[in-house]
Amino acid sequence: MPVSAAASAREILTRLHDVMASRTPAQSKLNAVVEIIGESLRSEVCSIYLLREGVLELFATRGLAQEAVHVTKLALGEGLVGMIARNVETLNLDEAASHPDFAYRPETGEEKYHSFAGVPIIRKERAVGVLAVQHSDPRRYEEVEIEALQTVAMVLSELIANAGLVDEAGATGGATRPQSTATARITGFKLVEGMAAGAAVFHQPRITIEHTVAEDTEAERHRVYAAFDKMREQIDRMTSQADFGAAGEHDEVLETYKMFAYDEGWSRRINEAIDSGLTAEAAIERVQQRTRMRMRQIDDPLLRDRMHDLEDLSNRLLRIVSGQLGTAAQLGLRQDSILIARNLGPAELLEYDRRRLKGVVLEEGSLTAHVTIVARAMGVPVLGRVKDIRRLVAEGDRLLIDVTEETLVIRPSLAMEEAFDAKLLVTQKRRAAFAALKNVAPETKDGQRITVMVNAGLRDDVAALDLTGADGIGLFRTEFQFLVSATLPQREGQKRLYKDVLDAAGDRPVIFRTVDIGGDKALPYLDHDENGDEENPAMGWRALRLALDREGLMKVQARALLEAAAGRTLNVMFPMVSEPWEFDEARALFEAQRIWLEGRGHKLPLHIRYGAMLEVPALAEVLDILLPRLDFLSVGTNDLTQFLFAADRAHPKLAVRYDWLSPSILRFIRRVTREANAAGIPIAVCGEMGGRPLEAMALIGLGIDRLSITPAAVGPIKAMVRSLDRAALAPALETLLAKPPGDMRAALEAWAVAHGVELA
Ligand code: PEP
Ligand code: MG
Repeated sequence: MPVSAAASAREILTRLHDVMASRTPAQSKLNAVVEIIGESLRSEVCSIYLLREGVLELFATRGLAQEAVHVTKLALGEGLVGMIARNVETLNLDEAASHPDFAYRPETGEEKYHSFAGVPIIRKERAVGVLAVQHSDPRRYEEVEIEALQTVAMVLSELIANAGLVDEAGATGGATRPQSTATARITGFKLVEGMAAGAAVFHQPRITIEHTVAEDTEAERHRVYAAFDKMREQIDRMTSQADFGAAGEHDEVLETYKMFAYDEGWSRRINEAIDSGLTAEAAIERVQQRTRMRMRQIDDPLLRDRMHDLEDLSNRLLRIVSGQLGTAAQLGLRQDSILIARNLGPAELLEYDRRRLKGVVLEEGSLTAHVTIVARAMGVPVLGRVKDIRRLVAEGDRLLIDVTEETLVIRPSLAMEEAFDAKLLVTQKRRAAFAALKNVAPETKDGQRITVMVNAGLRDDVAALDLTGADGIGLFRTEFQFLVSATLPQREGQKRLYKDVLDAAGDRPVIFRTVDIGGDKALPYLDHDENGDEENPAMGWRALRLALDREGLMKVQARALLEAAAGRTLNVMFPMVSEPWEFDEARALFEAQRIWLEGRGHKLPLHIRYGAMLEVPALAEVLDILLPRLDFLSVGTNDLTQFLFAADRAHPKLAVRYDWLSPSILRFIRRVTREANAAGIPIAVCGEMGGRPLEAMALIGLGIDRLSITPAAVGPIKAMVRSLDRAALAPALETLLAKPPGDMRAALEAWAVAHGVELA
């Protein structure tokens, strides 16, 4: 018997290397492989079963009857081979026939063999085949032999994938699926409404291993050493930067993570796998596969969490060693895709091809995080807070998401696909009904015209104006172009964009908000020392604060806007105004640019209107000072809510804790609306709140008659407005706010239902 795992695997791999490199057809290679393994492990039988059209087919054998090749087929879970594939586990038996799962196949002539060992051939964490050895002596194979088999199975997975011999997970919609990866329905949290079907794509893709057998073991060892150094450096940096102040559970988590990164046992096992002849990538994966198999047998949630850490580290190491550092966006989406990530930044999402990106599933996420807002603007449904999604789904899996139902189906059955399609049709019909409202004015039943505008930020968003029949763009988030750009956008580029937007809008107003950078909209190219490492970026150096300090940036934008709006009205709005003097300074900066341009004979806007966003609660206390200076005011409920409740808008745990329909928010908005109305200053709401029918109804009840919302919400909001009697709602809301019920949302919903308000 062979003496060490490395030596026995090494001997086999050296021989396999020549077979793999030969120019013979895949079948001949497999025939050679079973001979080599059978000989090396001194087994009378060695067989390879591969998963084809959902069943395991005997593809090559030494020892069993050759007539059985391509004839013997086993379903997943059928017989020992089927069990190995279904459970992705190794079996090692001295007496195969006495195992309860043994399924005798007379055509193979296997009755004379007693001992049996089989390992799964794994690709992308799925068994795509089984490698089995059998012997007439009733003895168990030794651990080193099993290890050698597992290593060989890894090399085989490369061979069979290159030859296209097996079902690739999710490669086609109709591919049959292993039972071990059965259909599952899980729930999440509604972030962006919609339905989508597509193949799972990880934002940070799993690495595909191109070569498993090493040419030069020493070189592989060096590669893995260097990768370990780099990974440990990254982890050290990460843990030292994650300064949480007080000690707590998070410290423990990070410490454990770090401990794994430095675990000598882990690096030793990878080294041993390299000794056995594998490449660095294959060795890392081989060790990870073994750990996965072991952990699968342990039913301890704590250990499972640790497994997550190890997976994460292992993937990190793989990415470093293979140099495959890009995201799925950089690699390019190849088909209709549903993106899977723990969380994303808005810029990361914007990198994706909108035509192929059908949906997003996040482990975290909240309603007003910018990634959610961007996704909403892109019309991409997002399901958030789906725990463990990265563990439950494999790259390429077919997914159906129905955000309205807050569900995600993994590897759906045919019946589920059909039900999904039927519902999609209904949704599309409803959407078409909303689209039919395009040319209908949003007027309440008692004759009040509500101005319904859209929020936009990208060039393509402007098309939404015509599609929805909105009254204008009430918030153009100019920072989006900064987020999608790799470098700071120049004046000419900005001017072109603003001009295109104004041209497309025609005589409908566009309100340009000056850059709101910072918070969760960090720019990689902005000086890190200045912009990064903030303990509390949402309340930090962002938006107007940053723009007033970085005058150059604001001046360039002012000039671009002024030039773009030559001969028309320019509406400018400043974000995160916290004190009136900030508004004054921003306005003065624009005016100075206007005078400068005028002095040089440039054509100027006919009229400039200056507005402020009300997002910082303190501003409400000084409206008497601010309002007379303004041409308009817009309430940004996303930031306002986070500051009123002191609750990070992007924090997944706080996503549902506070309600927009809480008395505190409604009373606050009522007060601001009254003051603005009294001063004769137009007031609008441009946060996400306004795009939700019930919330919009409440806002209108409070006296708001201008909304700027996400384009997809225009239809439902128009329908709601046209079914609403504002004169009846206003006093009812007053009564509710005078003595708020325990559940304001429920009370408002009841009122809406009782009064026939359409809530979509
Ligand atoms: C807001 O804060 O409500 C808002 C509209 O601005 P943003 O979401 O871009 O911060
Ligand atoms: Mg804001």
